[in-house]
Formats: sequence, C-alpha cells, structure tokens
Amino acid sequence: MNCLDTVSLSHSFADLGPQFSTRLTPQGLNEPRLLHVNQSLAHRLGLSAECTQSAEFLAVVSGNQALPQGQTLAAVYSGHQFGHWAGQLGDGRAHLLGAIETTTGPEELQLKGSGLTPYSRMGDGRAVLRSSVREYLASHAMKALGIPTTEALSLVASEDKVYRETIETAAIVCRVAPSFVRFGSFEHWANKPEQLKQLLHYVIKHFYPECGSPILQTDAELVQQMLRQVVRRSAQMVAHWQTVGFCHGVMNTDNMSILGLSIDYGPYAFMDSFAINSTPNTTDSGGRYAWFRQPSVVHWNLARLASCFLDICKEDPLQEVLAHYEKDYLAQYHWNMRQKMGWDQWLETDSTLVNEWWQLLHDHGADFSLSFRLLAQVTTETQSWLSLFNHSEAAQNWLQRYLERTKQNKQKNEARVAQMNRHNPLYVLRNHLAQQAIEGAQQGNMEPLERLFRVLTTPYDEQTGAEDLALPPTPEQRIAALSCSS
Ligand code: AMP
Ligand code: MG
Repeated sequence: MNCLDTVSLSHSFADLGPQFSTRLTPQGLNEPRLLHVNQSLAHRLGLSAECTQSAEFLAVVSGNQALPQGQTLAAVYSGHQFGHWAGQLGDGRAHLLGAIETTTGPEELQLKGSGLTPYSRMGDGRAVLRSSVREYLASHAMKALGIPTTEALSLVASEDKVYRETIETAAIVCRVAPSFVRFGSFEHWANKPEQLKQLLHYVIKHFYPECGSPILQTDAELVQQMLRQVVRRSAQMVAHWQTVGFCHGVMNTDNMSILGLSIDYGPYAFMDSFAINSTPNTTDSGGRYAWFRQPSVVHWNLARLASCFLDICKEDPLQEVLAHYEKDYLAQYHWNMRQKMGWDQWLETDSTLVNEWWQLLHDHGADFSLSFRLLAQVTTETQSWLSLFNHSEAAQNWLQRYLERTKQNKQKNEARVAQMNRHNPLYVLRNHLAQQAIEGAQQGNMEPLERLFRVLTTPYDEQTGAEDLALPPTPEQRIAALSCSS
C-alpha cells in the first residue's frame, strides 16, 4: 500500500483546460537522494514522517513517478522582465502535480527542475543543487519570519550533470502554495477577453471568494475586487521584505504571485551590511531591483497586471484601485517599523526618526539585522549597538533621540524589549550561511543545512550553540552579489 494513495487530490488548475497548461510527464532525476524534508509542512499536508521516508515519496518528488491520481502539467504565462515585455514564458522547468486538500484549503505541489516542457525555450529544464538549496532554505526562512511565501516540501539531489558557468549537479525542490498563478498568467491573456475572464473567475472562485461571483457581479466589478486584494497583499508582502532587509533580485511580473506570496527565490539576499541601493543580482547592473526600489517596482508590476483588464474594465476604476497601494504599503511598513523600534504607537513624527535611521545604517554600512536586534538592549548596554556604527557621533545623536522618543511609550521597558525581540530576527538566511549549506550538500554533508534549517525555524529566539549563525560574514565570507544562473 502506497502512503500517497490515500492523499486527497484536486486539479482545479488542470481543469481550466489545455489553453492554460500542457499535460506532460516530468523527466525524473537518476539515482535521486532525498536531502531534506520540511516535516512540519509535510504534516500540514497530511503526510506522515514515515511516508516522506518511503520509496514512493522519493519517486514522486524526484519526478520519477506521478502522484497517484495526479495530473501533471506545465503552465503557460508571459511577463515583463526588467521593465520590458518578454512575451511568452511559462513553466520552463516546473511541473505541477496537483493539489492536496488540507484543513486550510488546497495546497498545490510543484516540482522545480524536473525537466523540459514546451516552455523551456533555450533552457535545459533543470535546476542545480546550489540554487535549489537556496530556494529550499529561503522558503523556510521567510515562512518562519511570518512573511507570505511559497513553501518547499523537499529537496532531492542527483549526480546528473547540469551545465552552467561550470559543471554542476541537478536537484529538484517540491514547492508548495495554494496557487502558482502569477501576474504574468494574466498578462498572457491581455488581448483575449474570454480566457482572461476564465482565469479571473478561476482565481476568484478558489482564492478570493470574498470578491464575489460572476452570477452577482459584472466582470468589471470582479476585476476591481480582485485587484484590490492583490494590491493589498502585494503591498504587505513588500513592506515585510523592506523591514527584514530582503532583496528579491528578480522582481519580474512572472515572478509576482497573484496571492501576494514571495515566489521564485533566485539571486536574493537578506542584507548584511545595509545600503539603500543594495542589489544582489549581478545581471541587474542598473539596480532596477535595488532594495529602495522594491516598493515602487511592485506598484509598477501591479499596473502591468491592471492594464491586462482594459478590455473588461474602464481605466478610471483600475487607477482608483491602484491608488490604494501607497496607503496599503505604508500601513504595513509603519506597523512593522513600530514593532521593530519598540514603540507602542506610531506618531506622525516617527517617519523622520526612521528615515534618519536608514540614513545612519547606510552611512555606516551597518549590519541590517543586528542594528535592529541590538537596539532592544540600549537602555542597559549601548556599546554593542554603538560598535556597529564605529561609536560615531551621528549614532550617539540618533540614539539620544531614539531614547527620548521611546520615553513616550506607555508600556514598560521590558515590554519594549520583548516586543522588539519578537520582531527583529536574530537569525536570517545570510548569503554566506546559505553558501555553507550549499558547499556541505555538494560534498554530501547535510549537517550545515540541517542546522541552519533548524535554527531558522525560530529566528526570533536566541538559541544556545547557534551564536555563529547570528554573525555577519567576515570579509572573506562575504558574498557581494550572485549570478542569475540557477
Ligand atoms: P526565472 O528567472 O527563474 O523566473 O525564469 C524565467 C523563465 O525562464 C521562466 O519561464 C522559467 O521557467 C524559465 N527558465 C529558467 N531557467 C530555466 C531552465 N534551466 N530551463 C528551462 N526554463 C528555464
Ligand atoms: Mg520565474
């Protein structure tokens, strides 16, 4: 008896029909090895630890066997890349297996790196172990930080060769999300109202039921309702990125989830040393996706999404919905910053102090995560925090004003410290730590990845024995930027 036989599957995306995807079989990896399973996610999906250790499970997540009752497919989408219309893209190396019904709704399983599809273009359909480890860890880290994200169930490796700048080996991550529909999925049908409406009705029915139904609302109304939700969720997502120092690296519209999930972890970075124009992607020479531009890029991407609907909805109401973006963004951003600064309310004047904070971090290239984390303890011990800023006068001045402002709290100092420690992670997935996990995995040593995964599960809790994982990289460990190759 196969433990996957009893899993209850649905195939709503496949049911949209052949215009939206191509049914096909993945090309599995040879002699696959299961490197890691996210057991807490497996549990939510109704898969026991025993099941995830079975040969059947490995066969499925290595692309060698379909899920029982599965309908494997690659989806088509288009998109804007680096500001330019790129035309048709699609799942060039990803296969959707179907959705598992959970208590909180369906969760789709999608393999990434599982072989060629009709949308592979020049690609080989594969993903290397290096980038797969990065995607696997980032999904986990973001989830644990409370940031909306796709998740990753498993990481499988093989000795199969993959040709990038050097010869590397192949891997497959099994990603999990309620849906992998992207802004680009809609952009693909911008001039085809029938299919566009079909996708609109699909997304609303399954993921935004609160937006209404095609029976009661006009399509123009449905577009506005859905767009309103996407604006809100995307704004919230990027506000979280900003306040945790996450740079996505490739914010093309095909990498924007219609559910406001962080998706497609490539050359991303959780910043170490802060620079407002930091960008982790070596191919982004213009800095289009630099940290300080991320919020406006999301807005631009939302405008691309909105413009798909010009045949079914007038421009003014679309503009009206887009205009909510700034307010939505600032609401989440201010909330996050208030928590991170340890204030019990947000005052008008706080924006100035916070902007000076970013300037201070930038001028000193201070460590993003530790600058926030150590700020909690400045009422009892200031030297550690000040040392991040070379004990500069500017830092001492800012700190004085911070302490003055903090006196306006009604909450006690212990409450401020506790609040700050709940919102300023001590452990983030720094690039040099991901690199250590990658190098371990490449040499068959899973201990660094397992340890990092464990520690990142509770990133806000100080963990004995994990002191090194809270430290910024040494100059030798520092990874300035990453290539897009994956
Ligand atoms: P990304 O930059 O990873 O979001 O990928 C952009 C597009 O290129 C998507 O359509 C991917 O499916 C496709 N793609 C990226 N890498 C590969 C590959 N190795 N083989 C096939 N398609 C790929
Ligand atoms: Mg992509």
